[in-house]
Amino acid sequence: METQALKYPAIRNYVAGQPIDTPAAALLDVFSPLSGAVISAMPLSTAADLDAAVKAAQAAFPAWSATPIKERVQIFYRYKTLLERDMQALAELVREENGKTFDEARAEVEKAVELTEFACSLPQLVQGEFLEVSKGVEARAERKPLGVVASIAPFNFPNMVPHWTIPNALVLGNCLILKPSEKVPLSAVKIAELLKEAGLPDGVLNVVNGDKTIVEAICDHPDIKAVSFVGSTPIAKVVYIRATSNLKRCVALGGAKNHLLVLPDAHPEMTASNVAASMSGCAGQRCMAGSTMVGVGNVDHIVSKLVEEARKIMPGKNLGSVISREAKARIERYITEAEAAGAKVLLDGRGAVVPGHEDGYYVGPTVIDYVTPDMAIAQEEVFGPVLAILRTKTLDEALAIENANPYGNAAAVFTQSGSHARYVMDHASAGMIGVNIGVPVPREPFSFGGWNESKFGACDITGKSSIEFWTQLKKTTTKWNPESRVNWMS
Ligand code: NAD
Repeated sequence: METQALKYPAIRNYVAGQPIDTPAAALLDVFSPLSGAVISAMPLSTAADLDAAVKAAQAAFPAWSATPIKERVQIFYRYKTLLERDMQALAELVREENGKTFDEARAEVEKAVELTEFACSLPQLVQGEFLEVSKGVEARAERKPLGVVASIAPFNFPNMVPHWTIPNALVLGNCLILKPSEKVPLSAVKIAELLKEAGLPDGVLNVVNGDKTIVEAICDHPDIKAVSFVGSTPIAKVVYIRATSNLKRCVALGGAKNHLLVLPDAHPEMTASNVAASMSGCAGQRCMAGSTMVGVGNVDHIVSKLVEEARKIMPGKNLGSVISREAKARIERYITEAEAAGAKVLLDGRGAVVPGHEDGYYVGPTVIDYVTPDMAIAQEEVFGPVLAILRTKTLDEALAIENANPYGNAAAVFTQSGSHARYVMDHASAGMIGVNIGVPVPREPFSFGGWNESKFGACDITGKSSIEFWTQLKKTTTKWNPESRVNWMS
């Protein structure tokens, strides 16, 4: 009864092409971090609810996997136009459930369009191989879907991250279970509805809402063949170990601590604006956020410009909120502890309040200089609009700091020197490197994925690398001519 007063009706799982009830599931409040208000509710589904979705996916798989890829892809051409048609509404939903700015939310949906476009190119990339291997004997290799697969998503990109997996996995012939973050479950419903409108057969995509219980049930379900996960490193490890110990294929992307190495010859304005945007975009809640800057030599002139740039970032205007009250408290604690340990707070975002949204979860842009490598703020993922600046005398010292951190998502260097840039490209221990770029996301057709504790599993999650993840090779050897000589190789 209470849920009728909510801005968005309580959401339901989406199974076999329709929203379904989950009578055994408790309801969890969904908050908008912009205002702190409860805007919806979502079911904490049970393992039985997951099983119903897997059965629907299994029922859809034979017909879907037998549909030629050139037909499957037509649905995604239509889907792309629906994403574009509903761009404003989809972005508004992301803004409201996640708290990022409207422009950031829109950029996220635009990225979903790009990911869908890449999936539409898959028929050109998966055509298989063929060779006459002996006289009259032909071998061919073709990519086949795995069956029912699953995608587990984090809170920070409610629309984009599901598009890292859904279009590629489905175009390649799989049926998929999506488990959105319980903090941002609204966008997933719209994605499922729009795919149905585009003509996706029922059961090919199913959405199961829930928390840890559903993640564990996915890892354990005997009929799920592959699991992709995006979230924090401790959970990525647990999921990777549990899914693979159940003999499933798994790629699990984790957290990050990305270092931006700034040299004295870097272009001052470009560097300042790039570093400020990298640390504060999406309120610092990006796995590609540059949360640590390492100044090599005297970079005071760049730091002062950077602080000027960061001062222009205003909570509630061009800076969104962080996801929760707990996240705000955690981020502010990192700042306070660094200050107590001797770091110098140049710009302080603690206690930010947006008039009219006093209960929203805002942290202002924060720049802290003279952080040392032993401080927690230098080592741990803060996930807020906070830049910790460390100082070194040499590039090798800066690279040693970058190499020592356990993560390995992104690293960037700001310099006008090609040889210094090349040195960082060769020696940074990260999967995605930027040269004068603060958020070096490899756009399609390049694939997204980090190194070290930022990713577990062999393949990347997007782009060409994901083809390997979502398919298995079938090799066929054929001989039609009875006169062909038979030997051990034929
Ligand atoms: P999270 O790890 O808390 O949650 C991710 C998913 O795991 C959610 O669907 C959640 O329901 C589930 N989950 C939570 N606790 C669990 C448990 N104990 N057992 C099983 N499942 C559990 O992550 P988050 O807070 O939603 O997202 C932020 C994190 O994600 C950050 O660390 C960020 O760096 C990371 N991230 C990484 C990438 C990347 O590409 N490497 C991209 C986006 C976000």
